[in-house]
Amino acid sequence: MNEKKVPPPPVLPPSIEIKENFCLFHKGEIQGEIYTCPACKTRYCMECAKKARDERKLCVKCKQLVLM
Ligand SMILES: [Zn+2]
Ligand SMILES: [Zn+2]
Repeated sequence: MNEKKVPPPPVLPPSIEIKENFCLFHKGEIQGEIYTCPACKTRYCMECAKKARDERKLCVKCKQLVLM
């Protein structure tokens, strides 16, 4: 049996992690108050969440209606 050496998996750079304070509605850093989606705990700005609720937009991550 010919044992093949498996190459080690590439090490991911730590910079890949998603910023905690990143609002997916306006695609930028969260300003001011933070709204947390109750279903998936994704964070948005309170202002964006209010707008999303009024426009009946869904949470970008889990597609739940924004409720508060
Ligand atoms: Zn969500
Ligand atoms: Zn925002």
